[in-house]
Amino acid sequence: MADNREYDIVIIGGGPAGLAAGLYGARGRRKTVLIEKGVVGGQIALTELVENYPGIPQVNGFDLAQTMLQQAESYGMETEYTEVRSLAQRDGKWLVETEAGDFLAKAVILTAGAEYNKLGVPGEERLTGKGVSYCATCDAAFFKDQEAVVVGGGDAAVEEGLFTTRYVSKATLVHRRDELRASAILQERAFADPKLTFAWNTVVTEIVGDEQVQSVRLKNVATGEETSMDVSAVFIFIGQHPNTDFLGELVPKDPGGHIVVDEWMATPLPGLYAAGDVRQNSARQVASSVGDGVTAAIAADHYVSAKFHESAGQKAETAATG
Ligand code: NAP
Repeated sequence: MADNREYDIVIIGGGPAGLAAGLYGARGRRKTVLIEKGVVGGQIALTELVENYPGIPQVNGFDLAQTMLQQAESYGMETEYTEVRSLAQRDGKWLVETEAGDFLAKAVILTAGAEYNKLGVPGEERLTGKGVSYCATCDAAFFKDQEAVVVGGGDAAVEEGLFTTRYVSKATLVHRRDELRASAILQERAFADPKLTFAWNTVVTEIVGDEQVQSVRLKNVATGEETSMDVSAVFIFIGQHPNTDFLGELVPKDPGGHIVVDEWMATPLPGLYAAGDVRQNSARQVASSVGDGVTAAIAADHYVSAKFHESAGQKAETAATG
């Protein structure tokens, strides 16, 4: 392996968590590379308007990600556009196998993000960002005093449905069964919310609209009855899947595939960290993912100092320049 493929920190995934980790890694004078298989930014690259990132009242998601990238690269972070195939321990370091060859790392930060499960109905993909959303916390404010549908029956659907009613005039929670999966406390709050109504045993079969969502077509799976409902927004919460399949059984995951970490974003494996939507119990916000990435980078920096550089005094130099 060529020397230039050896890094202090390899970051896998270029969403907000990865970009924040890259900034801190590179600014801490660690040789850092971020590996991204598509476009940096992850989910925010597809978000028209971000207005809940503290300190920046309004910004286009793609632009925010590009700014984060430029900021990290200005401190020396390298960026490789390729897909990671596998990760394995190799002589106390980490071997990252990619489509573009191997990378060797003293520490690895996993920030590959997650993808929301899709309904797969006509109109969903075309109207995403135009009334179809997978984050009410991000987007409900755009639909003040309008009507919305919330799809799903788990904690996310109910919690985000309750958030939605802070803004919309009425939200209908559409669930495919006749009882919620969500925790009891969330159910109590949902049933007590006068703006939240329920369409039981019901599925969305189509999302209709030209430039923006105008209505949804619904089907009652118990009776077969089909109806239409005029709404401006459709918030979909039918689970999500973290991009952790490439890790196989390497690292402990929860039943949903999210990586289990401690408060320093550390997995039980030495020098391996996970931040943002890939980790268990993520708040799934740009700001929280950035915080995760920063935490992981600081932890990785300390790990590299302790394991590889302590006798060389590298840690003192890093602290002085960081
Ligand atoms: P989830 O618990 O897996 O719930 C997904 C919901 O979507 C279920 O009600 C499911 O219906 C429904 N669903 C799945 N596929 C569907 C489809 N194709 N069409 C229509 N409906 C579909 O997912 P989640 O709510 O995202 O939660 C994920 C994890 O995060 C859970 O462990 C949850 O407890 C946790 N979480 C916790 C909080 C909190 O504690 N405040 C907040 C958010 C998430 P069925 O019920 O019929 O299967």
